[in-house]
Amino acid sequence: MSPVWRRELRRIVLLLAAALGAGYALQHMLWALTAVVSGYLLWQMLQLFRLHRWLESGQSGRLPRTYGIWGAVFAETRRLQQRSLKHQHKLQGIINRIQDSTAALQDAVLMVDSHGNLEWWNKAAQRFLGLRSPVDVGQPITNLIRDPAFKTYFDAADYREPLTMASPVNPRIHLQFNITQFGRRDRLFLVHDVTRLKQLEQMRKDFVANVSHELRTPLTVLSGYVETMAMAEDQLPPRWGRILGQMAEQSKRMEAIIKDLLTLSRLETSGTEQPAAVDIRALLQQITADARALSQERGHTISLSCDGPAALEGYRDELRSAFSNLVFNAVKYTPDGGEVQVHWQWHDDRPRFCVTDNGIGIDAHHIPRLTERFYRADPSRSKDTGGTGLGLAIVKHVLLRHDGELEISSTPGKGSRFCCSFDPARVCEL
Ligand code: ADP
Repeated sequence: MSPVWRRELRRIVLLLAAALGAGYALQHMLWALTAVVSGYLLWQMLQLFRLHRWLESGQSGRLPRTYGIWGAVFAETRRLQQRSLKHQHKLQGIINRIQDSTAALQDAVLMVDSHGNLEWWNKAAQRFLGLRSPVDVGQPITNLIRDPAFKTYFDAADYREPLTMASPVNPRIHLQFNITQFGRRDRLFLVHDVTRLKQLEQMRKDFVANVSHELRTPLTVLSGYVETMAMAEDQLPPRWGRILGQMAEQSKRMEAIIKDLLTLSRLETSGTEQPAAVDIRALLQQITADARALSQERGHTISLSCDGPAALEGYRDELRSAFSNLVFNAVKYTPDGGEVQVHWQWHDDRPRFCVTDNGIGIDAHHIPRLTERFYRADPSRSKDTGGTGLGLAIVKHVLLRHDGELEISSTPGKGSRFCCSFDPARVCEL
């Protein structure tokens, strides 16, 4: 037992003894006992009342002075209060530090509650998004950032990929929004300035486009001379014939690479022209006819089937380029006499273009990288086929511009299937 309790018990015993003594002396035992116990109880009530009043006052005033067990209770309460205050200050310090460091961040940070209303933001958010403190607190974020692309992205609540768009206050600044959900559908925004990256990306695109464009003219001149020399082959020493043949072949390859690089540049930069209804059936008939011409004496069986509505809203030349790359690849990578099937069909409620071949196939580990520029599953074989290594990169870009998806499945030695599926909303009347 603690000394305080021991003292308190001693005090009670003494009081009771005094009450009994006084009762005996006065011949009123019961009255004396009742008076002492009531006095003790009253004193206890008074201490309880003082403690309650002190707690109610928010523990701000001076701690009531008392002694005995109540003195210990008051002192312990004061100690707990001081400890909790110390913790509170420490926590407030941490929160202040986090807020200070977040406020000093170069990136904008915003917190949006589960109803989509703005809760808190830092200085960079003010600069990038034009938010005003405190008037914008509690405003719906979609009222403050009015770009339709942002609204669609925010409402869709699929934040796996970041959104890049121009700043609402300065169209020259490009921002990348990364949104993370936490708690009960609260959202934390991290907005990063990607203007420099965009500029570098643009410089890269311009560089590739300019180099390809500049190389085209000298190459045309060179291959023109090679052709002229090849025509006068009978006047040249015999070994020159083979050399000229190789020169003509390599310059054709370079021309094909430059043509594909220019196509890719166009796909990356164009974007404002209106799409039109494309007659897919006619397009595929033309492509399969071209594929038969490409196959010639290699004897492939090339079939075409077209089911369901066959008109798509898009860009005819781009779709032609994508589909023909896939069909011509099937011919290129299928041994002589093989089979190539071209289908236009509905699959899983989506219109889909598929090319299936029974050619050499592709090892599974190459498949995720096939649409990278100049990536080849088998570089030596691809050189034989005269490929540029850009065909599938073109397909990927065309599909990006048509909200399409590319699926590749293949078994080495058995064949491959390349499918492009489109959004049903793109199906239209001719
Ligand atoms: P390339 O001009 O080399 O054909 P692509 O970008 O069109 O370039 O294709 C990339 C690579 O994918 C090719 O080099 C080839 O290895 C592989 N590939 C594409 N289509 C097929 C196919 N139908 N069968 C087997 N391999 C293919």
